[in-house]
Amino acid sequence: MAPPAARRRPEAAALHYRVECADRHAHLFTVTLTIDKPAAQQRVSLPVWIPGSYLVREFAKNLQGLSATQGRRAALPEQLDKHSWRIDCVAGKPLVLRYQVCAYDHSVRTAWLDADRGFFNGTSLCLRVEGQTDRPHALEVVAPDPLAGHATWSCATALHALQVDAQGFGRYRAADYDELADSPVEMGAFWSAEFDVCGVPHRFVVAGATASFDGKKLIEDTRAICEAEMRFWHGDKVGRKGGPKPPHDRYVFMLNAVDDGYGGLEHRHSTALICTRRDLPQLGARKQPEGYTTLLGLISHEYFHTWNVKRLRPIEFARYDYGHENYTRLLWLFEGFTSYYDDLLLRRAGRLDDAGYLRLINKTINGVLQAPGRLVQSVADASFDAWVKYYRQDEQTPNSTISYYTKGALVAMCFDLTLRQEGKGSLDDVMRLLWQRSEGGPIAEADVAQALQTVGGRSYAQEIASWVHSTDELPLSDLLRAHGVATLDDPAQRAQELGLRVAEANGSVQVKVVLRGGAAEQAGLAANDEWIGIELPPARRGQPPQAWRIAKLDDLALYLGPHRKMTALVARDRRLLRLQLTMPEGLTTWRLFAKDPALLARWLAPV
Ligand SMILES: [Zn+2]
Repeated sequence: MAPPAARRRPEAAALHYRVECADRHAHLFTVTLTIDKPAAQQRVSLPVWIPGSYLVREFAKNLQGLSATQGRRAALPEQLDKHSWRIDCVAGKPLVLRYQVCAYDHSVRTAWLDADRGFFNGTSLCLRVEGQTDRPHALEVVAPDPLAGHATWSCATALHALQVDAQGFGRYRAADYDELADSPVEMGAFWSAEFDVCGVPHRFVVAGATASFDGKKLIEDTRAICEAEMRFWHGDKVGRKGGPKPPHDRYVFMLNAVDDGYGGLEHRHSTALICTRRDLPQLGARKQPEGYTTLLGLISHEYFHTWNVKRLRPIEFARYDYGHENYTRLLWLFEGFTSYYDDLLLRRAGRLDDAGYLRLINKTINGVLQAPGRLVQSVADASFDAWVKYYRQDEQTPNSTISYYTKGALVAMCFDLTLRQEGKGSLDDVMRLLWQRSEGGPIAEADVAQALQTVGGRSYAQEIASWVHSTDELPLSDLLRAHGVATLDDPAQRAQELGLRVAEANGSVQVKVVLRGGAAEQAGLAANDEWIGIELPPARRGQPPQAWRIAKLDDLALYLGPHRKMTALVARDRRLLRLQLTMPEGLTTWRLFAKDPALLARWLAPV
């Protein structure tokens, strides 16, 4: 469907962007921007980042050939810095800018164009017209001519349609630049379905699906998840006559299925997702692929952001600054709590059973406990540093920072289980209170502390200081036990035992990460080493040492037998090294199990 047309006759847009798929084989969009009433020294700029993905990405690197005309006169754009220009022109007389954008990144964050598919975010294609960003913006998406051997394209976006054809090409309207930047556009011969959730029209488009894709199943599950989330925030009467209204009047899921990829980016009325084709639901399958649960978790996560980060949001995001990093210490709440609820709401929507849910929590807990960086940075500091740490991962990342997604999810679980244990409601009540008090707007950490205090009947300052602002361990096992979940110790995997993350390929072991304080670090192994083999003392006196080439870490048990000490043979920068390595003993990981299912059900029960 085309999104519903705006009811009132809107203020005419003073800014008009015409987007053409100029050359699909060269991956080039052409954009023509008409500014009805420019300033005499009109500045324009392209964002350096896209909200939701906290890294300066310099989108202007893909912009080329900027030219400007006013009537018949050519105006000369002067480049001011890496992402902005000034055009010397006559004030108040229509100014036309024309440029191309190279679109060859199939992530959800930028833009893509080839013979099969087009996709773009406004942050990649649409220059900001300084001084006019709060005015209505019109976007015209031009239907490309069909290429020989390719199907006719359609166009999908959550923007309000002004005048579009049956395929969705034509003119759309955004209230301001923020809405334009927040409304990605998908083009191609995609699969599409519409459904209703609590009175709100939803659409799901899938690009890249194969013949085995079960669209009916995807819609059935997505609808259940959306409904659970609507009810989470607004109660059972949401969308009914006289009941509360959800904050959005339309929503579009845009999923791109590829051979290898995963991710999502949240928007106020839509989300762009990427997954592998193998994770899509399969027609006639008795059991869906394991990755399908991960995809449903992603859908649940991005949809939860409709409330938690796109409306309820850090005070620092009250107005985005598109030209610089926007720092906040609150991503543990906006990403971490969203990560807690994405899986919990799958459980509540009946898409997971208790055992399946515990498996997901178990994985999150072990991931955090196996990251030495949790003892280096708090989740609040990790949030502030996201721009240079979490989004710029390298071999030191696990040692120097902690994910505000995974530890943030465990912080949420600790708050939830503590409130429940003390008989004071739950974290659900805290989230709803935050929503009501802020009217779905910007909040500061003090608002979170106050909401916890109101719901919990006491100050949570100590927990916030310890769980959010320090590197103290979280009281996970005590809280889980109080809710019917016991923790067992399982032997650690070989890589974890050694304090390594490796890639095993082409018959050798490549060291990717050496974890802080582990046996591998003590032996002197380093990231990028190739671990070739091991040497052991002679079986009997007078015999040569035993030496083995290793291809997999799990083979160590085969060669070591009772030995704990070995010489690791390592290649580094073309040199061959002999490092003395001792296998540590007694390292374990956690295994969760439901010891008291009735108690557990009180926490996880579907609502
Ligand atoms: Zn997120």
